[in-house]
Amino acid sequence: MRKKLVAANWKMNGSKALVQSLAEGLKAGLPSLENDVNIAIIPPALYIADVQRELAETQCGFGVQNIARWEQGAYTGEISSAMAADSGCGFALVGHSERRQLFGETDEAVADKVRQAMCHGLVAIVCVGETLEERNSGSANAVVAQQLQGCLQGVDGAQWKNIVVAYEPVWAIGTGKTATAKDAQAMHKHMRQLLAELGAPAEDITLLYGGSVKPDNAAELFAEPDIDGGLIGGASLNSDDFISICKSL
Ligand code: PEP
Repeated sequence: MRKKLVAANWKMNGSKALVQSLAEGLKAGLPSLENDVNIAIIPPALYIADVQRELAETQCGFGVQNIARWEQGAYTGEISSAMAADSGCGFALVGHSERRQLFGETDEAVADKVRQAMCHGLVAIVCVGETLEERNSGSANAVVAQQLQGCLQGVDGAQWKNIVVAYEPVWAIGTGKTATAKDAQAMHKHMRQLLAELGAPAEDITLLYGGSVKPDNAAELFAEPDIDGGLIGGASLNSDDFISICKSL
């Protein structure tokens, strides 16, 4: 049975006060969840300890929004996988499209980050997805295939259980535009076939959809057979909306 997962990417938003009130809102709403959804809260790194404190004793796991491609050393400003694990994080987002677009992150860099995450027992949430131009030109499947091959080369054996893939069409992130449930399902099915070709136990790998998921579209997306949950940006900054999305799974 694949694990269901909803991950909250708070991005570079908030303040200590906002993070505190968001965490309090989640703590109040979590007991109303009756499904077996796993939850990962991924705040700005400086606030992880605050969120962990507030949500201790809940079912939430925690994660970082990015990790270094290196083990340790003179990399000013970077956070290593070892540090994330040491700080009680179980998840690391890697290859988010904002990092690819704004920070020039390549598939090769993402592959290094995946390797680091595997070395330290983190679950890597590997983000892939095409731009609008690529979708309109009919190359979305090929783009995602290349990203998956590039980012997951070298993953092997038992490491696959620590891989989650998030399909996030770039044109849907933060735009209010969502892939239709049918289009998202088609891409997820394609990704599962690609994962099998890469030697993964594809039927066991959790695949997330991300891109303007909201309380009013989550259920339709999550009803698709190959969509095992969501990576939620904007809507995760409202605890009621996030809980409502978790209930839809
Ligand atoms: C994201 O940043 O991963 C994301 C999916 O954002 P949003 O939900 O705001 O589109």
